[in-house]
Amino acid sequence: MIKEFKCTICGQAMDQKYLPMKNWNIDGLLCGKCYSKKIFEHYPGKHVRVNTSD
Ligand SMILES: [Zn+2]
Repeated sequence: MIKEFKCTICGQAMDQKYLPMKNWNIDGLLCGKCYSKKIFEHYPGKHVRVNTSD
């Protein structure tokens, strides 16, 4: 059985999970959509890539 993860922000099941940055004060994982939204909020104009497999 594959455990389904839900996004901390929108609550949707996600096929890809992203770790929020520590300074976002988010406890949990994010979907790609919310993650890029957060990235944009915190780092407008920057392209930050985080690989969860690292
Ligand atoms: Zn989400």
